[in-house]
This record gives sequence, C-alpha cells and structure tokens, in this order.
Amino acid sequence: MVFTLEEFRKFTPRKETFALFGYPLGHTMSPELHADLFACSARDADYIAVSVKPERFAEAFALAKEKLSGFNCTIPHKKAVISLLDHVDKSAADLHSVNTVSIENGETTGYNTDILGFAASLQADGIKLADRKCLLVGYGGAAAVMGYHCVSEGAQLYITGRNLTKAEDLRLQLLTCFPKAKIMVAQPKNLPKQISVICNATPIGMFPNEDASPLAKLPYKIEYVFDAIYNPPVTALMKQGRQLGARTRDGLFMLVMQAAWAQTYWCESEFSDADCAKILQLLYAKMAVKRLHDKYGKQNIALCGFMGSGKTTFGKLLAKLTGLSFADADIYLEQKEGKSISQIFSEHGEAHFRVLETKYLKEISSQQGLVIALGGGAVLKPENVSIIKNTCFLIYLNPPFRRIWKNLISSKNRPLLDKQGENRYAETRKLYVSRRNVYLRVCDASVRSTHKKQLTEDIIKCI
Ligand code: NAP
Repeated sequence: MVFTLEEFRKFTPRKETFALFGYPLGHTMSPELHADLFACSARDADYIAVSVKPERFAEAFALAKEKLSGFNCTIPHKKAVISLLDHVDKSAADLHSVNTVSIENGETTGYNTDILGFAASLQADGIKLADRKCLLVGYGGAAAVMGYHCVSEGAQLYITGRNLTKAEDLRLQLLTCFPKAKIMVAQPKNLPKQISVICNATPIGMFPNEDASPLAKLPYKIEYVFDAIYNPPVTALMKQGRQLGARTRDGLFMLVMQAAWAQTYWCESEFSDADCAKILQLLYAKMAVKRLHDKYGKQNIALCGFMGSGKTTFGKLLAKLTGLSFADADIYLEQKEGKSISQIFSEHGEAHFRVLETKYLKEISSQQGLVIALGGGAVLKPENVSIIKNTCFLIYLNPPFRRIWKNLISSKNRPLLDKQGENRYAETRKLYVSRRNVYLRVCDASVRSTHKKQLTEDIIKCI
C-alpha cells in the first residue's frame, strides 16, 4: 500500500519506522525488500511507501523528522533533499544525489547507497575496473552513479546514448570529481573495439519491451555486461553478451544491496553474503510470480519432465520461494481415486490411468496460485497440453539422463520402470529420448543443470 501525504500526516508509528518517498510511486518492491532485511537482522521495524509531489517534499521531510528513523528517496527527490539535510556523505554530494537519509537525534545525514549496490554487484562477480575500458549506456541518475564508481576504480570510461550533449554533461560532471580521469563520449555507431565492461543505465529492454537492446552490436572483446534493469532477469543486452561469452548480471542484486546498505546506515545492521543471496533469491521468486501474471497472464506454474527429473523436489522448493502452493498431479489423482497409481495400472491398465489423468488435470489446473508437478506422461496427450497451458506456465525440467537414472534407481513406486525387464537402463533411456522431444516441443521454457542451486536459479529466472 502506498500512503498519500495526508495519510502519512495522520500516521502514528507503532514501532521504529522507515519510509520511501517518491512521485509517482507505482508498484515498488522496497517495502517487501526492507521487510525481508529486517527479518534477517531480527529487527522489529516497519517500512512504508509515501507518494510525495515535488512541491510538498519539504513538508514530508519535516514530518519524517518527527515520525521516522530514516528514509529513502527516489525520483524526483534525490537532488531536492540535499538542501534540507544537515550532513551529506561525499559521494552523494559529488553526485548531487541522495537516496538514503538517516535521522539521529533530529540530525539528518544523506547517503547514496545505489553506488554501494552497484559496487557490490561488480565485486560479487570479481570484476576489476582499474585500467579497463568501460562503456556506460545512458547519462541519467543511475548512469552518474555507475560512471562515478567505474572512474573512482580507475576505469577508462566511455559514455554513450541517444543524446551526446547530455553524455558530455555527465562527462564534465564526473571530471569535476575526478579531474585526471579518462572519460570520453562515444558515438553509438562507433564504439571502441577494446571495451571489456558494458553497463546499461537506461530502461531500454525493460518489461514489456524485452526484445529491445540499447546497443545493436556489442564489441567482440566484451567480458562483462551489467544491466541495471531487473525485469526481465535476463535482458536482451545480457543475452547479446552471453552469446559473445561474457558474464552478465542484472540489477536486482544492486537493488538488494542498496537497501542493505541503507539499513546499515540506519541501524548498523550487517548482512552476510549468505543472507543477501537468500533475499536475492526470494526477490527473484517474487518477480517470477509477478511476471507469471503480468507477462504471461497465467495463474500457475507447471513442471513437466521425465520421471525422476526432480519435478516434486523442485516444485516444492519453487512453491516455498514464490509463496505459491505445491500440488502433485499424481498424488491429487491418487487421493481422488483412493488408489495408488501402481494399483490403477495393475487393475485397469495404462489407458484407463490416462483418462483419469486428463480428468484431474482439468480440475487441478483450474485452481489458482499453484506450482504443479505433472506426471511424466501428462503432456504426451495434446488435449492435456492445452488444458495445462491454458492456466499454467509450463517448465520442462531437463537434467542429463545420468542424473535422472541415479534418482530413479534410488526410488520406489515407479510403475513404468517396474514394467521393464532386465535391460532397464537401455529401455528407460529409449523412453526418455522419445519423450524429451515432446517435452521440448510443448514447454514454455526448459532448464537443465546438474547443480541444485543453479537449477533453482534457472527455474526462477526462466519465467
Ligand atoms: P533517468 O535518470 O531517467 O535516466 C534514464 C536514462 O535512460 C537517460 O540517459 C535517458 O536518456 C535514457 N533513456 C530513457 N529512455 C530511452 C530510450 N527510449 N532510448 C534511449 N535512451 C533512453 O533514470 P535512472 O534513474 O538513471 O534509471 C535508469 C535505469 O536504471 C532504469 O531502468 C532504472 O529502473 C534502473 N535503475 C536500477 C537500479 C537498481 O538498483 N538496479 C537503480 C537505479 C536505476 P534521455 O535523457 O535521452 O531520455
């Protein structure tokens, strides 16, 4: 919920409270993100979002000093707040941009934690900037932050964008902070070939315009692409980078780390790498649900794949991370029929089981907010595929066969496997190969990894 200024005036904090001020404030992830961080440091605090028009910001600031222990500000208040503060941290003063304000005994101090979030992203990926050629796309607020960090680390910075006069303004602004730095403006159609790091600080490629990239072609020596965008989690620019073998990162970790640093300034809370990774994963999962609804207009996620491919294990994990409920289509059928699938197979045969499967798939996929683990053969029937895809985003879990076999031989209750004779391995592999083509054809996305952590990440980011 976003408060109006009038609501904020009437608001009485029940506990230590922090806020975000911005205008316009649409959907913002900040309250959830800060709640996750407070939970992590076991701090009993609230975080609210307040929509404040520029002309009423001074009023909001005065109210904040009465009611809050600190706040964040976003567009259009990042610059305007500076004249109201008692103290301003150096990089925030250099950038003329404050996104975090701490309030202590009535004294206010402004910081820029976006820069710390950006630095943390590059550090997490082991990117060293000294003497590297970096290309910065854009010249707005985020670009200033990213350019400032690159130059402060000794990079040679090239700034590009659709308006080279504005790019020149940013160059001059950065030169006032770092007079000896090598900062150039580059024509988009004539980029230097030796660029090793690209940072996108424009909204080009953001949902719903996901196919757009700010650069038609990337320099072929590119090693790393950072995109400040986080919806989608893999942007068109990142895909271009990956095709050239570059490592990539989207902007969600920057968002997490700027919030973590804000809490460090407000409450002296410290967050371990593991804490931040966990919060990041939860945020990607929330983003996946948002994309499920906004981009695909679907209400459920369904996992298909060969028996033993991990549909139940990863389905449960995905449900836990996304906050959706887990449902196993086979167990649903067994409960409805009051019989195990093995029993149904032996008493009535596979054909009867497939009729029941369609009946119950209709029921289960008409529900909302589920992660559904499908039976291995569920998508072999085109009728089932349309039933499932009507409401579900369909992900194919496609681990290598050796992984599947390992899972299968250690598990019981596999009627299809039990039917096969001595040459179980060859028979099962043959079945796997024939089904794999179907899974690949019908799915919305397929994921393949032998590592649990990587596979979980791939599942969340494929939506
Ligand atoms: P900003 O100050 O408004 O700057 C936007 C920049 O993008 C400007 O250089 C602008 O150039 C350029 N741009 C916008 N639309 C364009 C288009 N259609 N074609 C070419 N250039 C275009 O915004 P900002 O605060 O810097 O944010 C920029 C991006 O970074 C946004 O996507 C934002 O969500 C993201 N961001 C992420 C984080 C994070 O934590 N991950 C933090 C801050 C920002 P013109 O002036 O020529 O329009």
